[in-house]
Amino acid sequence: MILLNPGPVSLTPRVRQALAGDDLCHREPECAEMLQQIRQKLDHVYPDTSSNHESILLTGSGTAAVEAMLASLAPRDSGTLVLCNGVYGERMADMLARQSKPHERLQHSWESAWDMASIERLLEKHPSITHVAAVHHETTTGRLNNLPALAELAERRGIKILLDAVSSFAGEPIDWAAWSLEAVAATANKCVHGAPGVSFVFVEKSRLSAAESQSPSLYLDLFTYHTAQAKGDTPFTPSVPTCRALLTALHELEETDGWRSRHERYQQLSRSLRDHLATLGVSALIPSTAAAATLTAFPLPDHIDHQEWHDYLKANGFIIYGGQGKYAENIFRIANMGAISDADWKRLFEIITDYFQRNTR
Ligand SMILES: *Cc1c(COP(=O)(O)O)cnc(C)c1O
Repeated sequence: MILLNPGPVSLTPRVRQALAGDDLCHREPECAEMLQQIRQKLDHVYPDTSSNHESILLTGSGTAAVEAMLASLAPRDSGTLVLCNGVYGERMADMLARQSKPHERLQHSWESAWDMASIERLLEKHPSITHVAAVHHETTTGRLNNLPALAELAERRGIKILLDAVSSFAGEPIDWAAWSLEAVAATANKCVHGAPGVSFVFVEKSRLSAAESQSPSLYLDLFTYHTAQAKGDTPFTPSVPTCRALLTALHELEETDGWRSRHERYQQLSRSLRDHLATLGVSALIPSTAAAATLTAFPLPDHIDHQEWHDYLKANGFIIYGGQGKYAENIFRIANMGAISDADWKRLFEIITDYFQRNTR
């Protein structure tokens, strides 16, 4: 089965085998060394990450990393602006509400790009806001949000960005030096091609050493992890097999020439998919100039039933995703992360064509 849902992804045989390695106690030096290696590799996926940022490894899915980032760093006594144009931005606002932290939600329609003028006006109106929580690739629609524009504004106003890069880290450009990033949350099982269960947050080193934790949560307090990590320790039991798979996936990312070449591969796959569906009369939800390379969303033609479409592809060896929320039954999403060969892609196109030819309007 080839997974074309936005994580978990199809693993390479080596990464899958890593899950079944020897039993290992997390208090032994072998484990400390493995965790150290993982963090060291994470800090070098992008060449300029390690100048100002440091990774903190957690056990939990991408949501745990995002929640830990907001719990530990979104301030208790000044404000955070949350930009929403899909499920994941809205989820960050919900997290801050549960943490009882002061925040403003700027809601956009899910079809829309961020409105810079509205952001500016909100910041003007609420001078207590010191942070912006933003999603890089909004997986709800496949939009790559405009980080360069947000970063310019943030820099000018002295605001820090807390970034959900769960579905973009290792697959899309991230400008660590220019984007006023206080923290970036990401996960093992999307563009990194690891197994689900571990995630990580990159935090500005200056913030880690200077400030105190804002976390109401004990388990999700990044400062606790950071203190333990600095001593080669880990505060709680990590998912050891999943960490081993992550280390192998990071090895493979290096061997295949890193994030840039992965991004180019994703572009090649997503562009050809977009073109192929266009020949069948289905154009993507987000224009290619604003789209992520990682995933493409398409409106489902009226005459096609979403469940039948999913089941047909599954019977042919591919898992795709429907939409979320109001899009649940009227869009479909195809991600192109993970171990996907040219032959897989060609076969996908063939079975898609076949379905559309047999199910005409
Ligand atoms: C997948 C995803 C998450 C959540 O990841 P889980 O692994 O499901 O917890 C958060 N943000 C974005 C943008 C995502 O794509």
